[in-house]
Amino acid sequence: MAQPPPDVEDDACLPEYRHLFCPDLLRDKVAFITGGGSGIGFRIAEIFMRHGCHTVIASRSLPRVSMAAKKLAAATGQRCLPLSMDVRAPPAIMAAVDQALKEFGKIDILINCAAGNFLCPAGALSFNAFKTVMDIDTIGTFNVSRVLYEKFLQDHGGVIVNITATLGNRGQVLQVHAGSAKAAMDAMTRHLAVEWGPQNIRVNSLAPGPISGTEGFRRLGGPQASMNTKVLASPLQRLGNKTEIAHSALYLASPLASYVTGAVLVVDGGAWLTFPNDITRLADFESFSAKL
Ligand code: NAP
Repeated sequence: MAQPPPDVEDDACLPEYRHLFCPDLLRDKVAFITGGGSGIGFRIAEIFMRHGCHTVIASRSLPRVSMAAKKLAAATGQRCLPLSMDVRAPPAIMAAVDQALKEFGKIDILINCAAGNFLCPAGALSFNAFKTVMDIDTIGTFNVSRVLYEKFLQDHGGVIVNITATLGNRGQVLQVHAGSAKAAMDAMTRHLAVEWGPQNIRVNSLAPGPISGTEGFRRLGGPQASMNTKVLASPLQRLGNKTEIAHSALYLASPLASYVTGAVLVVDGGAWLTFPNDITRLADFESFSAKL
C-alpha cells in the first residue's frame, strides 16, 4: 500500500518536503485562505506556497495568523500576508480583501476553511450553538465568496475550494449542527459553480475524513480506544494527515482540475462508507464527557 506523504502533528512547517512538489504549478498565483493560521488551513497554505503561490491567511486571531505567516514565509520563501477577520462580519471581510488586493494586486484562489465544531447531542444543543456553527461555516463561506466575487473574481475568473465534511452524508450522531452546515456548503458549491462558471470561476468542495494533528480531530475524536477501532475498520485503516488534504486542495485549485467544477472531492480513505454510525456513539459521548 502507498505510504502517506510526510506530516508533522502541530502547526509547524514540514521538515522535509522534496519528493512531491513542482514550484511551477501555482507560480505567482495568490490564494486567500480563511482559517489559514492553524491545522488543515495552515498546511494548505504551506503546500500552495511550496508550489509557487503567495498566500493571505485570515482568521479572528491576529497573533495566530501573524505567527503562522512568519513560519510559512521562512520555510517556503514565498510571501504570506496575515489578516485578522471574522467570516461573520462582511465589513471586516471587505476591508481584508481590499488589503490583500492592495498588497498583491489580485486573488486567484479562495479556500474557505474557517469553521467551528464540537460534539453535542441534538437534544442538548442550544439554539445559539446551532446558529453559531451555521454562521461561521455556511454563512461565513457565502460572505467571503460573495465579497471576493464582487471585488475581483467576477472580472478575472478564479477558483474557490470549500472545505466541508462527510458528516451529513449519512447523518452522524452528535453532529447535527456541523453536518447541516457542511451539507449546505456542498449545495452552495453546486449553486455557485452553475452561476459563476460562465465567468470562468470553478467552485468545488473538499470533504476531509478524520485528520490527525488537527483541532477538529482532537475535539471530535472522542474516546481514543473507540476511535481507533473505527479507524482500523475503515478501508485504508488509518487516519489521514494534513498534507494529504493539502495535496487534494492543490489539485482542485490548480490547472490540473481545469474541467472540474461543482464537485465534492471526498478525501477520507473511504472512511464514511464504513464508519459505524449508530446510537452507541451517544453512550460513548456521555461516558467520555463525564470524565472531562
Ligand atoms: P482548526 O485548526 O480549528 O481550524 C479552524 C480555523 O478557523 C482556525 O484557524 C480559526 O482561527 C478559524 N476560524 C474559526 N472561526 C472563525 C471565524 N468566525 N472567522 C474567521 N476564522 C475563523 O481546525 P481543523 O481541524 O484544521 O479544520 C479545518 C477545516 O477542515 C474546517 O473547515 C473543518 O470543518 C474541516 N474538517 C476537519 C476535519 C478534521 O479531522 N480535522 C475533518 C473534516 C473536516 P481563529 O480562532 O483565529 O479565528
